[in-house]
Amino acid sequence: MTREMPEVAIVGGGICGLVTALALEQRGTTPTIYEAASEYRPVGAGLLLQTNALLVLDHLGIVDRIRDVGIPLGDSVIRSPGGRVLKRFDLDRLERDEFGHGFVAIHRGDLQAILLDELDTDVETGAKCRAVTDVNEPTVQFADGTCVRPDVVVGADGINSAVRDAVVPDVELRALDSVAYRAVATVDLPEEHRMRGIEVWGKGAYTGGAPLGEDRFYWFGTAPTSPTSLPADHPRPVSELREQFASYPEPIPSVLESLDDDDVFVTALEEVPTLDRWSRGAVCLAGDAAHGMLPFAGQGAAQAIEDGLLLAHSISATDDRSDAFEAYERERKPRADRIRSESQLLGRLGSIRSGIGAGTRNLLVGLVPDVLFQRARRQRASGTSLPETALGASDHSG
Ligand SMILES: Cc1cc2nc3c(=O)[nH]c(=O)nc-3n(C[C@H](O)[C@H](O)[C@H](O)COP(=O)(O)OP(=O)(O)OC[C@H]3O[C@@H](n4cnc5c(N)ncnc54)[C@H](O)[C@@H]3O)c2cc1C
Repeated sequence: MTREMPEVAIVGGGICGLVTALALEQRGTTPTIYEAASEYRPVGAGLLLQTNALLVLDHLGIVDRIRDVGIPLGDSVIRSPGGRVLKRFDLDRLERDEFGHGFVAIHRGDLQAILLDELDTDVETGAKCRAVTDVNEPTVQFADGTCVRPDVVVGADGINSAVRDAVVPDVELRALDSVAYRAVATVDLPEEHRMRGIEVWGKGAYTGGAPLGEDRFYWFGTAPTSPTSLPADHPRPVSELREQFASYPEPIPSVLESLDDDDVFVTALEEVPTLDRWSRGAVCLAGDAAHGMLPFAGQGAAQAIEDGLLLAHSISATDDRSDAFEAYERERKPRADRIRSESQLLGRLGSIRSGIGAGTRNLLVGLVPDVLFQRARRQRASGTSLPETALGASDHSG
């Protein structure tokens, strides 16, 4: 006898919503995605997809497309503002050798386009969820006054999730008093930077990026929130950013030189505090809605991608939705919470403002034995939440 699959509404058609939908489709369920934006546009900056994200995308059968469109990196370096190499991570010798995948830098719009192209699922754009009521027989209410009543609601609506209120009410985001700047530059990259990720740990600022093509570079930088009365996410003229990072190692100054004010967008840095639970009744959270984290570990999208695959497998494995959500949460929550804590720690280290503190940090980072970093990288990749290893396991470290 064939099982009747539940009707699933995914609120939010970002990376998490699209991956969840693709994984559900591959398990025989066609969900509906409700996305607030009126259309998909190739906006946003770059993303560094680390090994764990690529392992999931491989499981979904789309990793070759991602690698073809993105840039597989050979290595990644952490430098001091003076240019000294503090750490170098050879991605060929560890990640690619042991797990089959290194890191891929990709434009967010390109990743989104591949996911949309792979999907049969309907994406209803211009559908902004206002609230979800009655969690056991959920109703999704939209801003235009319409509503739907699916069997299951997945809240993949990002860090300012509207669905989250139905699971854990009144969550207040925690702000770091820093902002992140991001841009994609068109710049002639010297050969040595065409397959290399870079981070520079400075005084109160952290910057870096990765190539997205021979002449495209994804740049990011953080800086303390302006002490003026301007809102935290007010754009800053690129001339000020050029000045701030002028003495930093290449390619940062050349990249900033090639940008115009309109190319740079700014995000106030916030995180979701650890939630007591990720689901209630027939409503479940995933991605940034559940565990939006600071960007310093480069893992927010990767964790959202792991969520999508595991949640889809859990939903399609059983008729009992509380069993499904329990299995998903048991695997995913401890890992995402742990990685969020790592991100906080890196954020604290990355935003040290005193010259002495930043200098000492850089000295110590250089002294940490490579073997410790290698252990952490191995744990991150080997702990990836893949259904064949994760579901049914009660404890899974990573
Ligand atoms: C500066 C910075 C750099 C980063 N770099 C990396 C990186 O290198 N690697 C990495 O893995 N991660 C990175 N991240 C994190 C990553 O961007 C996020 O974790 C990831 O996008 C989360 O995906 P999501 O689908 O959960 O949420 P989102 O990408 O925010 O998508 C949510 C979707 O829901 C829609 N939506 C919102 N509200 C509603 C509503 N009420 N109704 C319907 N739809 C709604 C939105 O329009 C959006 O399409 C970075 C983050 C920042 C801030």
